[in-house]
Amino acid sequence: MTTPPETTSTLDRRTLITSTAAAATVGALALGGQPVFADGHGLEGYDAAKGEYVLPELPYAYDALEPAIDAQTMTLHHSKHHAGYVRGLNSALKKLSQAAKAGDTDQVHALTGKVAFHGSGHFLHTVFWGNMAPAGKGGGGNVPKPLADWLSKHYGTVDAFKAQYAAVAAGVEGSGWGILAYEPYGRRPVVMQAEKHQNLTAWGVTPLLVIDVWEHAYYLKYQNKRKDYIDAVWSVVNWQNVAKRFQAMHATK
Ligand code: MN
Repeated sequence: MTTPPETTSTLDRRTLITSTAAAATVGALALGGQPVFADGHGLEGYDAAKGEYVLPELPYAYDALEPAIDAQTMTLHHSKHHAGYVRGLNSALKKLSQAAKAGDTDQVHALTGKVAFHGSGHFLHTVFWGNMAPAGKGGGGNVPKPLADWLSKHYGTVDAFKAQYAAVAAGVEGSGWGILAYEPYGRRPVVMQAEKHQNLTAWGVTPLLVIDVWEHAYYLKYQNKRKDYIDAVWSVVNWQNVAKRFQAMHATK
């Protein structure tokens, strides 16, 4: 008896694809099985008891980021858009598991893409909410020392970093994100764009500070003036949160 070749290859592919999807899902948020950024805001975005992703509660009210971000935008953004990514991620993972078991490689391929899209959407929004706080109550102000020094070392000054970050975010073509990430090999900052949630980004880096530049993030208040929205968001950046995320990565050596 010989095993039919297609059985073997289906199995191999299934194992490979399933483990790749799982790694992509978990790797963006967790390291060594623990959330990297348990930041005291309950923003981990995963319910271990239920075994599924959940919409994190915001650590502030929907109107708390005004005037930088209006209450209606925050309400829709969190309760509709972000919630949709959480639902999409859980649903895609469930279907992916079934398709993998059934050896349906076309479906596995399509669903792996859905996991990347909805998963990245969920993770980035979760980071984004934690990156902000009401102006004057944790939001805005100066960048704390170790983070400020690191940014100055690589960009010249904190203001030069902010200018580059704002320009990169403003320049995203279509829907996407501006991202400051930690690159662990050179222990350097990297400022990059994401198109949609998952395209154009470097792998192996960890987001520290993200800004959503999808139109749903600013259009009600700012219409086409994306740059004005980006400028306003500095007033609600929670630098303590960004610094914590930075130190979680940078202090490990
Ligand atoms: Mn969004």
